[in-house]
Amino acid sequence: MPKSGQSEINAATRLCAVLGSPVAHSASPAMHNAAFAALALNWRYLAFEVNPKNLRAAIEGAKAMNFAGLNLTVPHKLLALEMVDELDVSAKVWGAVNTINFQNGRAIGFNTDADGIATSLREDLKIKLRGARVLLLGAGGAGRTAALKLASEGVSELFLANRTFSKILELQNEIAKKFPAVYVGLNYPKDSKAKIDLVLNATSIGLKKNDGLPFDGNQFSQNQARAVYDMIYRPAETRLLAAAKKSGCKTANGLGMLLHQGAKAFEIWTGKSAPLDVMRRALGQNIYGH
Ligand code: NDP
Repeated sequence: MPKSGQSEINAATRLCAVLGSPVAHSASPAMHNAAFAALALNWRYLAFEVNPKNLRAAIEGAKAMNFAGLNLTVPHKLLALEMVDELDVSAKVWGAVNTINFQNGRAIGFNTDADGIATSLREDLKIKLRGARVLLLGAGGAGRTAALKLASEGVSELFLANRTFSKILELQNEIAKKFPAVYVGLNYPKDSKAKIDLVLNATSIGLKKNDGLPFDGNQFSQNQARAVYDMIYRPAETRLLAAAKKSGCKTANGLGMLLHQGAKAFEIWTGKSAPLDVMRRALGQNIYGH
């Protein structure tokens, strides 16, 4: 039985899907199916476990079967740059593909992650990015996109900290070329008295129950931060966010980022405004059970 608002699956049903590995815990199907139902669209969104070695075949297969679109998650976002027929400017600028739109037999790669981060920071923390001093923890896929987006938004100083130093060195060089007005510091800010407007966690530290803080307490103190954003949304409150709250910071987890990258993808596929409240509620229900 279809859920209320959802149309019957029939020969006209359009399909979207997320490809990832692992993908079983993805909340995207819940979010997008709720949105399709709210707009009475005869569309469905599925999740497929796809090994990176089969990614090209999976994208080609979806195109051949007239899927409307795809989302890509770990570990596919960089690989897909070489596997689509065309890159939208967003995928070129941010150097990763998380959304594919199939149009006239062509796969067009987009990136909605970067806008998702910036929209969530503004909405959930009410933060003004232009001129802000930011400490970004982590330089994996999400950290790299966040660093470039923050630089493009005109933050004044961006401090990068990551376990693997070569990644922040590379990012520093890339930002120097693309956004030369932004000061990029490697590692933690030297002046321990100066406030940092935003600490953004883009490491995976905090995903596991016994994880500690994602920064080096000898080099940075929680009290230096005005606002803290953790890209992790499961659990809802990481140790980092709990400590930040306790020290009086504004805090937010990564649910808004997930929501807004999804909303943007929805709009690319359907050409309709995303029903944000419906999507937010579906995510909350799927991830937190309420
Ligand atoms: P990656 O695997 O690409 O990057 C992981 C990052 O965490 C790297 O910077 C890595 O450092 C660091 N890290 C991992 N383990 C350790 C450790 N033990 N000690 C120190 N650093 C560590 O993952 P993503 O960039 O895709 O994801 C990063 C985080 O963002 C995850 O928690 C993910 O859940 C979250 N995320 C949230 C999204 C949202 O919509 N809210 C979307 C995408 C991601 P190193 O470079 O040295 O390996």
